[in-house]
Amino acid sequence: MRIVVLTGGIGGARFLLGVRAYARETGADVTAVVNVGDDLLLHGLKVCPDLDSVLYTLGGGADPERGWGRVGETWTVKTELAAYGAEPSWFGLGDKDLATHLVRTSMLNAGYPLSQVTEALATRWQPGVRLLPATDERLETHAVLSDEQGRRAVHFQEWWVRYRAEVPTEQFVFVGAEAAKPAPGVVEAIAAADVVLIAPSNPVVSVAPVLAVPGLRDAVVGGPAPVIGVSPIIGGAPVRGMADRCLAVLGVECSAAGVGTLYGSRSGGGLLDGWLVAPEDEDAVVPGVTVRAAPLRMTDEAATAAMVRAALELM
Ligand code: GDP
Ligand code: CA
Repeated sequence: MRIVVLTGGIGGARFLLGVRAYARETGADVTAVVNVGDDLLLHGLKVCPDLDSVLYTLGGGADPERGWGRVGETWTVKTELAAYGAEPSWFGLGDKDLATHLVRTSMLNAGYPLSQVTEALATRWQPGVRLLPATDERLETHAVLSDEQGRRAVHFQEWWVRYRAEVPTEQFVFVGAEAAKPAPGVVEAIAAADVVLIAPSNPVVSVAPVLAVPGLRDAVVGGPAPVIGVSPIIGGAPVRGMADRCLAVLGVECSAAGVGTLYGSRSGGGLLDGWLVAPEDEDAVVPGVTVRAAPLRMTDEAATAAMVRAALELM
């Protein structure tokens, strides 16, 4: 079986641990198409938070407590940058993590596309699944704010990390999306897939920017494979993170039904054939979509693999 997963960073990476466990058991082949909307340039370095979360998590190098970055991280460079008053200072740039950004930036400057750089980084981390950025082009999620300083756009990372998603926000825009193309292999993987899984990632700022790449959404919606989503919301709350604040910007209810309806049914021009929700949300109704319930807390790999099996039963 060929499985394609559309995914963001931390939530998606945890989900991929379960997908990989399932694949090891069954011999399935897994391709993850990863959000690049969070990517940014910091101190001249290209940082790809979601790709790094997936690489580190699947490669056994992630910090399990923080959820992002490297385990056993140190912060010497960050402290030194602060001593210079170098901005931005709000982003957590660890010493170990920096090596990844240095290698990535050198390769990009030498002319390699992000997809090839990611493949090169993966030779170290051996994630056990194929990792593809949604696009090799620059596509950045920005938040349009309206506060006392007026109406302006800030990079998603600044909105999330610096402002903690607590500023009046009108909308999100995916800068560069119109000119982006799916990275090599993305459309081919979707066309050859037996199933497309939507990870329980943030629907607004992780999954939406992946689907904003022209041609990518059409490949999923118009493709032969069933599309099964897994709810990132359990009992009206994002398990961790601030997806509720992102959904509020869109005026979407923070619930399994709300997110399922935001994605919509494939038969009705939306995305989903099936929607897996938690037992506490078993009454959720998404018009045109088959809804099933299963435990959705990704407490460990076995629990997450069971989630994946439940999702595949919706095929
Ligand atoms: P990010 O890019 O690092 O923000 O990570 P993702 O977008 O891939 O995933 C973040 C989302 O994962 C959060 O908004 C949560 O709703 C969801 N999430 C986190 N832990 C769990 C869990 O144990 N179960 C489920 N169903 N969703 C979770
Ligand atoms: Ca992210």
